Amino acid sequence: MSTPTRIAFIGLGHMGGPMAINLHKAGFAVSAFDLSADALAAVRAQGVTTVDSARAAVAGAQVVVSMLPASRHVEGLYLGTGDAEGLLAAIEPGALVIDSSTIAPASAQKVAQAAGARQLAMIDAPVSGGVAGATAGTLTFIVGGEAAALERARPVLQAMGKNIFHMGAAGAGQVAKLCNNMALGVIMAVTGEAIALGVAHGLDAKTLSDMMAVSTSRSWATEVCNPWPGVHPNAPASRGYSGGFGNDLMLKDLGLAVEAAMGVGASIPLGELARNLYALNKQAGRGGQDFSGVVQLLTRLP
Ligand code: NAD
Repeated sequence: MSTPTRIAFIGLGHMGGPMAINLHKAGFAVSAFDLSADALAAVRAQGVTTVDSARAAVAGAQVVVSMLPASRHVEGLYLGTGDAEGLLAAIEPGALVIDSSTIAPASAQKVAQAAGARQLAMIDAPVSGGVAGATAGTLTFIVGGEAAALERARPVLQAMGKNIFHMGAAGAGQVAKLCNNMALGVIMAVTGEAIALGVAHGLDAKTLSDMMAVSTSRSWATEVCNPWPGVHPNAPASRGYSGGFGNDLMLKDLGLAVEAAMGVGASIPLGELARNLYALNKQAGRGGQDFSGVVQLLTRLP
């Protein structure tokens, strides 16, 4: 039997934790690191080997996967901050780097270029599918980078997800991810608005949602993650908007979409409006809730 591929996994939060566990279950030799002791303990409890620094994680690794919150964390990790040398200098020559965080396309390109200068292949591979998809191993990977690097990454991605899309060169995965999340942010807000309108007219939220879910306004918001409490028992709306995809992360992604639009002179009027709605929702003290809680801006819930 061949020796299992050694994978360094950095960032074991809501998404990275279950992703690292799935790699371990698939037989890869995973060496995991996070700044949070709780995050380390959670994956260790599932049999994943943890280490006490990112450098220790990448020693001897053929593949490095990162799942961090935002651009500054990814740039800080790989390129370094102040006097601290970036992790790229410590990664084994010839290794493959996969960053699955959702970050600015320009940041992804900057880090990929620096990796290339060190003879490291790198892809941006942000994901869609949420915590449920990360846990079930059914994520969609949205990839930017060279086709040859994606082929090397494919067995690793397949252990964590079921759909893989190659969008183009470095940064293209991030652009596509922002397009998806901008549409999602708008659709969630307007779905909440429509249900609130129906309820104000005395309609039953569940019957209205069930109708919409098989009609022309059907979407993930009507079918899976309905923003109205009680419509879907497993949706964040039915547990006080806890868990799920945070309002603050949606706000970050819409900010990245606005930045990306400005970079090419694109107009995204609905995306900008949605960014403002999620910013208002944060100001109302709901930044930590699931983003479907944006409906609370539009109506008083039962
Ligand atoms: P999270 O905040 O739960 O996890 C991030 C983890 O990174 C934390 O455990 C933190 O301690 C760790 N971290 C930060 N800097 C670090 C460093 N320098 N070294 C090691 N660890 C470090 O975030 P998440 O929900 O797992 O999301 C991660 C990324 O995935 C984000 O970019 C997010 O936009 C994206 N995403 C999230 C979801 C979702 O549903 N939560 C869905 C799709 C994409």
